[in-house]
Amino acid sequence: MSVYTLPDLPYDYGALEPHLSAEIVELHHDKHHAAYVKGANDTLEQLAEHREKGGGPALLNALEKNLAFHVSGHALHSLFWQNMSPDGGGEPDGALATRIEADLGGYQAMRAQVTAAAMGVQGSGWAALAYEPLGDKVVVTQIYDHQSNTPTAGTPLLVLDMWEHAFYLQYKNVKADWVEAFWNIVNWNDVATRLSDVS
Ligand code: MN
Repeated sequence: MSVYTLPDLPYDYGALEPHLSAEIVELHHDKHHAAYVKGANDTLEQLAEHREKGGGPALLNALEKNLAFHVSGHALHSLFWQNMSPDGGGEPDGALATRIEADLGGYQAMRAQVTAAAMGVQGSGWAALAYEPLGDKVVVTQIYDHQSNTPTAGTPLLVLDMWEHAFYLQYKNVKADWVEAFWNIVNWNDVATRLSDVS
């Protein structure tokens, strides 16, 4: 029995072209995201086995790290697909725009900060726009791998995958072109709904 399941894409593989190729979307969803779902389910089974049969604290520690990696990967990719749309792009409006203005200095400043976060990822990771409830602020952050460096209380609203599997087949080493293309497919309605759900 699987606890975690791979969500369907909300659009066809080729729907985000020319900004994101059908080949990347298909591989990224059907192979990479699916692997995190499988990893999360497998790790839960291994943790159950550890509870029944033991295995020591070192194995438990490793399994907990694996669970964090795979569940976070699953969560971020599930969000990432919803954050993009063939009808995306443009600028946010309404309460989201007001928030971005107040907390990050407006759309252009936010976009520059998220772009810098994306371009500054060392190794594998993400750039994210998140709501941080303790300070009641929208913030920009990098996420290392899938599971590290986030303000713990925060809820990601918009995530940009900067792992090489997210862009390399189309953009090769030119990360900046992937980041520029991403802004053309951001689903601001989805981001706005997420913000209103948590703030
Ligand atoms: Mn990915």
